[in-house]
Order: sequence, then structure tokens, then C-alpha cells
Amino acid sequence: MDFTYSEENLMIQEVAREFSQKKLAPRAIEFDESGELDRDLISEMGQLGLLGIFVPEEYGGSGLDHLCYVIAMEEIAAGCSSHASVVGLSNSLFAYPLLNFGTEEQKKTYLPSICSGEKLGAYSLSEAGSGTDAASLTCFAEDKGDHYLVNGTKLWVTDGSIADWLIVFVRTDKDAGAKGITALMVDAQFEGFTVGKNEKKMGFKASPTNEISFANVKVPSANVIGEVNRGFNIAMETLNSGRVSVAAQALGMARRAYEIALQYSQERKQFGKPLSAFQLTQAKLADMATKLHAARLMIHHAAWKKDRGERVIKEASMAKLFATEAATSVAHMAMQILGGYGYTAEYEVERIYRDVRVTEIFEGTSEIQRIVIAREELKDR
Ligand SMILES: Cc1cc2nc3c(=O)[nH]c(=O)nc-3n(C[C@H](O)[C@H](O)[C@H](O)COP(=O)(O)OP(=O)(O)OC[C@H]3O[C@@H](n4cnc5c(N)ncnc54)[C@H](O)[C@@H]3O)c2cc1C
Repeated sequence: MDFTYSEENLMIQEVAREFSQKKLAPRAIEFDESGELDRDLISEMGQLGLLGIFVPEEYGGSGLDHLCYVIAMEEIAAGCSSHASVVGLSNSLFAYPLLNFGTEEQKKTYLPSICSGEKLGAYSLSEAGSGTDAASLTCFAEDKGDHYLVNGTKLWVTDGSIADWLIVFVRTDKDAGAKGITALMVDAQFEGFTVGKNEKKMGFKASPTNEISFANVKVPSANVIGEVNRGFNIAMETLNSGRVSVAAQALGMARRAYEIALQYSQERKQFGKPLSAFQLTQAKLADMATKLHAARLMIHHAAWKKDRGERVIKEASMAKLFATEAATSVAHMAMQILGGYGYTAEYEVERIYRDVRVTEIFEGTSEIQRIVIAREELKDR
């Protein structure tokens, strides 16, 4: 691997960093407290090309690579984790499956307004009874010829209450397990589609998480993404790609916590010295910096391999597992360095500590990443 970053890598980093530091970071505590995303800032992210980074220009995207994407994601997440979720949804969870499995017409219909931020997308796989075991989902779509009649309930839909279009995984064959699932494009305006309350969560408070329900919702057959009964493959392929994105999101949050702790350790004095003069503080700073560096290398390596068209199942899982657990640990150490002040909402570390935890849970838990990595390691040996 060539460790030199391209001009495009550095350019998108600068664009995302400037936007994040000027527009997101100063208001991150406000977003957490209000529990709301800023639609104008989302549009601005669209104008900057951050909502369709690897989407080809013909569909309204920036036409860059996955390495550019994870570099930008780290920067946006360092400013505000909830707005970073919109970047992840638009790029990884909405644009990626459409680009890889959608028809030409679907790509032209949906991608330009997602990339511009005019419309918001969501990805709905989980249900109350099927989380890690996604293939056991039950929300049912009956084939009626020119349309599907959808009935059931899905859970944990990020941006479910504000999304215009949702990629929803439904059961189309009751007896076929993973081979009886289909991906449908659902318009939030369809009759019979309803959104439940926002879940009360520990963190990511500005990013709504909702239940969605279907009562005899008619979805045109033209809205099937990919092949009927092949949706599980689309869901897994999308999550596999999204893992590197969540890893980069966790890295960005943790980096911000580290930067705050680093500065604080040099300003706060106890026993007549700055905290950074104590070796026990230095050890924490060294561990934090090392974890961040290792996570970044793993994320960039996985993205770089993906850009070369190589299989990255193991590397993506390793990057998500390591980066998210490292990020949680870095946020923990940052709070320790700030002492009691770190536990108050006055410093961002408290919010980051709450926000970062879920990265070990969504888009495949740490346990699932370990299962995937072990499976890959044991294969053919
Ligand atoms: C804030 C938030 C946003 C989310 N956004 C979305 C979204 O936009 N779209 C969407 O579809 N979903 C979303 N999810 C759902 C998320 O992907 C699931 O929570 C996750 O997949 C885990 O499923 P579960 O919560 O049902 O846990 P379970 O599957 O019930 O697992 C519980 C625990 O058991 C462990 N476990 C399960 N199976 C095994 C096994 N075989 N071996 C060892 N351990 C195992 C898990 O790792 C976990 O620790 C979101 C969740 C949250 C919290």
C-alpha cells in the first residue's frame, strides 16, 4: 500500500474539516440538547458534495473513492456525530445499494436529490424480533402483480421520522428464510405508512430513531431493488460496506475527545503542574493517540482495498471492531483526564462518551464482527 494521500483525498479532508469545525463543532452541544438536525446544514453538506462522495457525477455525486469517503466521515463526525449519521445514511446505506443493485431509472430518480441533501434516505432492516438474526424478519409484502401489499412493523430506523425515501427489507416468501427477503423503495408519502415516536436514547440525540409501520401499503413492483427474494444479499453487502463508515464515524468522535483532553491536560494545573506533566496522564495520552492511529490505518487500508475492487469482508469487520472499541476506550480516558468537568455537559467529552457507545452496536455488533473475522480466518485453513 502506498501511504501517500492523493490530491482528492487531501481536498475532501480540507473541505469536510473546515465545514465541520466552523459549522458543526460549535453547535454540537446545542444539537444534542435540542434533539434536532439542522436541515440547512444538511443542504450545505450536499452542496459540498459530502452526501454522495463515491456516487458518480452523472447521478449528482462527487465521483470520488471510498478512501475520500472515510476521510470526510472522520472530519464530519469530529464535529457532530448526529450530522455524521446523515452522511453515513446518504452514502453507505442509501446510495451504495442503489448504485450496486438498482436499475438505471432508480438511480436517476433517487440519487441526485439524496446527494444534494434535498431529500433524506433511510435504511430499514431491523425489527423488534430480528436484530442480529436479520434473516428472521417478518414484515410481509404480498405480490399483487403490479404492486406489493406491505404489512408489518420495523424498528430502529435512523432518520425514520424525517426520511423521504426508505429502503425497506421485507419478507416475500414465508418459507424461504434468507432467500425470501426483498428490498423495496418506500416513499414516506405512501398511504398506510406511519412513523412512531422517536426512541429515547443515551446518545445520538439529534439523530431520530423510529419505529415505522405498514398497513396495507401499496408499493409499485417497479420499486423492487435488485431481484425479488435476493434482498438479504443486498442488506449484507450494504452493511459490509457501511462498516468502514461506522468505524470512521467512531474515529472522528474519539479524535475530538482526544483533542479536548490533550488541550485540557496542558491547561489544568494540580500540585502546581499541568496534568500533562504527570506520567500517568502521559500514558493515557500515548494510549489514546496510538489507538486512534491504529484505527485510522485499518480504516484507510480497508477503504483503499475496496477502491481496488478487492474483497474486504474481513478487513471491514476488523476496522469496525477495532475502531469502535478503541473509540469507546478513548472517550473513557478523555473523561478521566477531564475529571469532574468531563462528566458535565459543559465539555463535549460527556456527549461524545454517550454518542460513541452505539457504534459497537449498530450495523453489526462487536460480537458479529468477531464471528465474521473468525469465519474468514478459519476458512480454507
Ligand atoms: C441508535 C440506533 C440506530 C439504529 N439504526 C438502524 C437503522 O437505521 N436501520 C436498521 O435496520 N437498524 C438500525 N439499528 C438496529 C441495530 O442494527 C441493531 O440494534 C443491531 O443489529 C443489534 O440487534 P438487536 O438490538 O436486536 O440485538 P440482538 O440481536 O438481540 O443482540 C443482543 C446481544 O446478543 C448478541 N448476539 C446476538 N446473536 C449472537 C450470536 N450468534 N453470538 C454471539 N452474540 C450474539 C449481540 O451481539 C448483542 O450483544 C439501530 C440501532 C440503534 C441503537
